[in-house]
Amino acid sequence: MARKYEIEKYRNIGIIAHIDAGKTTVSERILYYTGISHKIGETHSGESQMDWMEQEKERGITICSAATTCFWSPKVYLTKEKTNEHRINLIDTPGHIDFTAEVQRSLRVLDGAIVVFDGVSGVEAQSETVWRQADKYHVPRVCFINKLDRLGASFEHALGTIYEKLTKNAVAIQIPLGEEAGMQGVIDLIKMKAYTFDGPNGDDVKEIDIPAELKEKVEKARDEMLEKIVGEDEELMEKYLDGKEVTEDELKKILRKATIEYKLVPVLCGTALKNKGVQLLLDAVIDYLPSPTDVPPVQGVDPKDEEKVLIRNSSDDDPFCALAFKIATDPFVGTLTYIRVYSGTFKKGNYLLNTNTDERERLGRILRMHANQREEVDEIFAGDICATVALKSTTTGNTLCDEKNPIMLEQISFPEPVINIRIEPKTKDDQEKMGSSLKRLQEEDPTFRVKTDEETGEVIIGGMGELHLDILVDRLKREFNVEANVGRPQVSYKEAIETNAEAESKYIKQSGGRGQYGHVKIKIEPLERGKGFEFVDEIKGGAIPREFIPAVEKGIKEALEKGVVAGYNLIDVKATLYDGSFHEVDSSEIAFKIAGAQALIDAAKKASPHILEPIMKIEVVIPEQFLGDVIGDLSSRRGQIDQTEDRTGMKVIYAKVPLSETFGYATSLRSLTEGRGTFTLEFSHYEKVPANIAEEIIEGKRK
Ligand code: GDP
Repeated sequence: MARKYEIEKYRNIGIIAHIDAGKTTVSERILYYTGISHKIGETHSGESQMDWMEQEKERGITICSAATTCFWSPKVYLTKEKTNEHRINLIDTPGHIDFTAEVQRSLRVLDGAIVVFDGVSGVEAQSETVWRQADKYHVPRVCFINKLDRLGASFEHALGTIYEKLTKNAVAIQIPLGEEAGMQGVIDLIKMKAYTFDGPNGDDVKEIDIPAELKEKVEKARDEMLEKIVGEDEELMEKYLDGKEVTEDELKKILRKATIEYKLVPVLCGTALKNKGVQLLLDAVIDYLPSPTDVPPVQGVDPKDEEKVLIRNSSDDDPFCALAFKIATDPFVGTLTYIRVYSGTFKKGNYLLNTNTDERERLGRILRMHANQREEVDEIFAGDICATVALKSTTTGNTLCDEKNPIMLEQISFPEPVINIRIEPKTKDDQEKMGSSLKRLQEEDPTFRVKTDEETGEVIIGGMGELHLDILVDRLKREFNVEANVGRPQVSYKEAIETNAEAESKYIKQSGGRGQYGHVKIKIEPLERGKGFEFVDEIKGGAIPREFIPAVEKGIKEALEKGVVAGYNLIDVKATLYDGSFHEVDSSEIAFKIAGAQALIDAAKKASPHILEPIMKIEVVIPEQFLGDVIGDLSSRRGQIDQTEDRTGMKVIYAKVPLSETFGYATSLRSLTEGRGTFTLEFSHYEKVPANIAEEIIEGKRK
């Protein structure tokens, strides 16, 4: 069976945005205009994430699906002809700040993105975070300044915040036709035409001449755009400087190239809610965002020799390889594993190799998810994004590939949880279901952890913030019918060392019973934050036999988990085993493990060990009159104010606050601001705890 759409006609994209900027509304309009959903839904302000998930179910639209396939023919709204049809796979990126790990994982598998902004507030803190992550993964993008119908909206202001906070390489290729209540449509600066969107759903699109009174403004905006675009191509630059006409096709071609190379970022505008501009946004997705063949080929390593780099081209002719990027539970078919195919083709019913687990997986059913239906497919091709059913051992971040051509793609790394809460089932009935339900949620979300307290037997769940865990507890109730009581949130402290140190340890028992002999000398040094644990074996001349070295490493690892200051995990350490000795008869793995653990403890105690705490980035938006009180309160929470700024009549405070000081902040902010303040929190980094607080932690007064 041949492929239906050439790979050049694929666009694997995501929509990223600050919560409330209109991501859901834009997605819904995209599904509507691409002809799949037949009714435009509504989202209303003030609803929580949960509400719209529930609502989504009622509406039968699966925006929440990890990936939705739809089709678009450029200019179909004018020509009514489905020519040059493209396949768009819309990959879901979650809106809330606590889920930045989720955003990161979706950024891995998409080729381009639409970034949605609120036309009143412009760039908000969270859009900055996501933007930087998109930079990290080199994701080409187009911007959509939404909500230009709102009171106080200003395209110019919002564009200014993009220049100022995100990139000087943004280039406006549209300006709005009217703003606020007078928002009627969009002016395309490349085509030099205006577009209006009439009818109840904005389906009736008209291409009209630019109104005379806007000529001057439009010319100015076009000149700015032209200079940026022609600046990317010498030939075009010369033509432009010679005063010759630069054609629409030339501009589009150069802008496409520059966007894909992430040298320029086209900026569009509209209002999704009032159905203006989304069709042109879809054209821009086709015109400027890359197909799978436009981005660099995926890289991986040979699982047998991780030094050996392998490349797979976005082509059906290369050996098959795909990345599992999301596990989701579907009420009808069970567990779905979403994969992105980078290369090759695959027929259902055959086997693939999971190079991370070294197990074979049979893909018996493959589904393509549309907004309102699932389509069973027999064969998948390079560039596809689809869901597979009932995989045994595959988890998020695993590579599935051709058994004869193994490759391991870079794993997706997820941050460790910063917050823990004890959770207790309400009834016996709940108890029976809780374990398996938590397991399901954990499979779906790699930043969510479940463990049991060894001493008390209680279940502890960990995540990226209070809200993250709140939502999971809520899902437990709604989706799995499990009611639970939760304890107070506990900060996940860590420990670290500051200096290098050495230690020697012997574990010898030679009286009665089996003898034991293990003797090691180690050096330790601090590593940069986030580097984790590194073990170096420098044993020469058989001072310790090969077979005992893994036991030393294991002992060190176990000691690290327990820490040396207050029982927290000691992180970011390099340990080098450089000498030791053994006994022909008495040496054993256990003896070397104990010696390794003790050496680590002794060395770490000499290396200025200390406690680390998670620091959160906080953005607080308040009316000006409360500024003093709110800053005072943040300072009393050991907050460091980074910056304050004005945003459409409100004050915005950017600060860093230790996580332990943010518990209950919502209540406190409400009472300080007569209920008018809002805030967002996001994990930033780990930092050394001040001495007085460290003492409280050690004494167990603060947990
Ligand atoms: P998300 O949190 O980014 O998914 O945002 P939603 O799509 O849920 O939108 C948040 C709120 O803004 C909802 O009340 C929408 O109805 C509203 N909204 C979305 N787009 C527009 C728009 O273009 N204009 C106006 N005035 N409101 C909008």
